[in-house]
Amino acid sequence: MKSLATTTKALIDPVCGMKVDPDKTDLVATHQGRSYYFCAEACRKAFEANPQKHLEPKPAKPKGWWGRYLERMAKSNKELFGGTRPHVTEPEPSGPMGNAHFSQLRIISDMRVLGGLVLFAVSWKVLFRSQRNHELAVTGPYARVRHPQHTAFMMIMLGFLVQWLVWRHDSPVLV
Ligand SMILES: [Zn+2]
Repeated sequence: MKSLATTTKALIDPVCGMKVDPDKTDLVATHQGRSYYFCAEACRKAFEANPQKHLEPKPAKPKGWWGRYLERMAKSNKELFGGTRPHVTEPEPSGPMGNAHFSQLRIISDMRVLGGLVLFAVSWKVLFRSQRNHELAVTGPYARVRHPQHTAFMMIMLGFLVQWLVWRHDSPVLV
């Protein structure tokens, strides 16, 4: 009960951001009718020298490399395309890389990913059961393939590879 009370009462030292229990410190400063508590005398002095500086909302944390990357992408996207995805009119596709062929590939790869997932799940069940019974897995998919989970995994990966190719083909900006 006591710990709950202290956590709810704990305040933030506006200078260094540390949690301070106002019951346990007499390092207090008053500014515009509010009391602020500090972890150390140095923090209190820094606050009293310039309270406003420490009460202003802190500037947003510098973004990491990923945030900067996204920002740069958004900026160049805006410069190049006005913020919207460009509409690219492609010539009518022909030959083996035509769109018809690719949509077939897409369906096949979808089915392969799905099939791989199903096979994976089914194999898992068989493997679990035979492990519990201390016997070799020979039923279900194991009657046909030696390593169904390996096969399933390969199917999923192959499916994703094909999807990636399709996606690359369909995304003129990113090619
Ligand atoms: Zn402090």
